[in-house]
Amino acid sequence: MNPSTTVLNQLSAIVGSDQIRINEPMSAHTTFRVGGPASFYASPRTAAEIVSLVKYCRASQLPYYILGNGSNLLVSDQGYDGVIIQLSQNLNAVSIEGQTITAQAGALLSRIASEALKCSLTGLEFAAGIPGTLGGAVVMNAGAYGGQMKDVLVCATLMDQTGNMRTLSVDELALGYRTSIIANQNDVVLEAVLQLRKGNAQEIKAQMDMLAAQRRDKQPLEYGSAGSTFKRPEGYFAGKLIQDAGLRGYRIGDAQVSEKHCGFIINRGHATAAEIYQLIQEVQRIVLERHSVALEPEVKLLGRF
Ligand SMILES: Cc1cc2nc3c(=O)[nH]c(=O)nc-3n(C[C@H](O)[C@H](O)[C@H](O)COP(=O)(O)OP(=O)(O)OC[C@H]3O[C@@H](n4cnc5c(N)ncnc54)[C@H](O)[C@@H]3O)c2cc1C
Repeated sequence: MNPSTTVLNQLSAIVGSDQIRINEPMSAHTTFRVGGPASFYASPRTAAEIVSLVKYCRASQLPYYILGNGSNLLVSDQGYDGVIIQLSQNLNAVSIEGQTITAQAGALLSRIASEALKCSLTGLEFAAGIPGTLGGAVVMNAGAYGGQMKDVLVCATLMDQTGNMRTLSVDELALGYRTSIIANQNDVVLEAVLQLRKGNAQEIKAQMDMLAAQRRDKQPLEYGSAGSTFKRPEGYFAGKLIQDAGLRGYRIGDAQVSEKHCGFIINRGHATAAEIYQLIQEVQRIVLERHSVALEPEVKLLGRF
């Protein structure tokens, strides 16, 4: 890839030259630890800069993609020929008033949960171990251990592709299992408001510690992954279907169906995105053949596969 100087100058004029990188390896920004270079990687500092970036990209017919913490994303080995707009670097403020938390989209869930703990607020314990940003969690309606973003979300401020901003209530956002209207509209989540309840700090901490221990026990956290690779098919568990299909430990190159949790595809160290993608397809094919169930990836793909 050969990023154009004109584009670089224009992007630098919007976010400042210190907030833009060229040919940035996406393996450094995804929890799978794979992915080739992004032509441009921009870290806006304000909502106005995001608006300007999106407007510029659209006017120049330059593809762009919003990145949270890259914890649900598989980027192609060829990288991304466009502009990554990365939110967690600069747009991560969290403020708490009473039992209400207002946070920018780039704030990590783990940090918001620990701020909630400091104020003895309960309701976000389920999210403390999800390694994503608030924006990514709202888009996906992230959830775990019986909780989901829908339970605590009051509203989110979105920016559409023309730069218009609006605030939608949780009902208007239509959060469903690992989805929302945002996922289908290409809007950008800028900020969200969460409503928690007053609780007991010791109990909140104990619950977070217990869930963290469960994750360490059941999930292959020592390897790169994007968490559960597939959505839960109605009436089944993806991991159990994969295990019953005899795929525990099944491997293509350094991509492997985790032996610890068959719902996770892991990077044993030097996997390529192509190997992970091939393994996803192979697991889908074999599960369909053995169980007649079509597994749908939860992981998002970016770039050419
Ligand atoms: C070890 C591990 C455990 C996990 N456990 C869980 C779990 O228990 N429950 C669960 O639900 N998930 C889990 N995940 C998956 C992942 O953490 C969540 O899906 C998380 O919500 C993704 O957030 P992110 O900021 O990393 O999003 P990214 O991976 O950066 O992006 C995911 C998608 O959201 C879009 N997006 C991100 N931010 C915005 C924004 N501000 N506006 C618009 N679009 C945006 C991106 O364009 C992309 O399409 C796990 C992942 C790992 C690696």
